[in-house]
Amino acid sequence: MIIVMRQGASKEELTEVKKRIKELGYKPHVIHGETRNVIGAVGDERGKSILQSLESMPGVENVVPILKPYKLASKEVKPEQTVIEIVPGLSIGSDALVVMAGPCSVESEDQIIETALAVKSAGATVLRGGAFKPRTSPYSFQGMEEEGLKLLAQAREASGLPIVTEVVNPRDVELVARYADIMQVGARNVQNFALLKMLGQLGKPVLLKRGMATTIQEFLMSAEYVLSEGNRRVILCERGIRTFETATRNTLDISAIPVLREQTHLPIIIDPSHATGHASLVPSMCFASVAAGCDGLMVEVHPHPETAASDGPQSLRPEEFASMMSKLREFAAVAGRTL
Ligand code: PEP
Ligand code: MN
Repeated sequence: MIIVMRQGASKEELTEVKKRIKELGYKPHVIHGETRNVIGAVGDERGKSILQSLESMPGVENVVPILKPYKLASKEVKPEQTVIEIVPGLSIGSDALVVMAGPCSVESEDQIIETALAVKSAGATVLRGGAFKPRTSPYSFQGMEEEGLKLLAQAREASGLPIVTEVVNPRDVELVARYADIMQVGARNVQNFALLKMLGQLGKPVLLKRGMATTIQEFLMSAEYVLSEGNRRVILCERGIRTFETATRNTLDISAIPVLREQTHLPIIIDPSHATGHASLVPSMCFASVAAGCDGLMVEVHPHPETAASDGPQSLRPEEFASMMSKLREFAAVAGRTL
């Protein structure tokens, strides 16, 4: 239910309403609007009509049901676009596009530091790199684990770029959170609800990737798991879905950008590397994504793609990334964004 407070309702009235929501067994999530506050009351769908009684409390204008199955992720609860502060001085969801770039996997100190410095000088503002890798085969490289996290921290130190890295298993959440600025949930874990709930209790931004067979509604329900635990900093990432097409690794669902834009206030980024699987296709998908209104990109970059431990064929060389970024700046300007 959405509890719409009157314009000018007092702080005390808001506190009383929150208290009553809790007494009724629901969780209040206050969204501070420009002219008035609203409270999203979420919890067991079955008994929610009891919340209607809040309408008679001082300061309450009305109580309306949230029609979508996802609540806190919906524009019904929060019509204004969410801007998430990643680290002081860097936000996502505003006019400034955020480009996250780096290798698929962290492989060595030289590799990650060289890549960090190169992507930074090309204009990336976040460094990506996997230390825990969710691989299709148990015989493929599984990542450097904590050693990889330490190298990422060194690369952050050397470049000044915040880091995004994946957490694959709920038991590693605390460990990854000690190093990461953004916690990435990979496509294969989009419905790992235990993991999502843990990340919802953490005070770090979460980059949630769409699963390869996840509908947009299911994707937003996964975001809702994080939001409903109290973490409002969720970034959505479209990374291609599985279709009958085999020319590309996945099929990039560009229309997910405007569709999500209509449904949610959360920032949306695109990963054209995992979507296409081919480095040559990455730049055009970046341009298209910016034209379609994304808030940022995640691009795989490797100094030597031919020897990469994972995803070499889809990784741009640093010079290819730099050239793509300089063209992207022109597209961004036309789309009313900065880079
Ligand atoms: C990744 O970004 O490293 C990754 C494994 O991507 P995805 O989860 O989208 O397959
Ligand atoms: Mn990869």
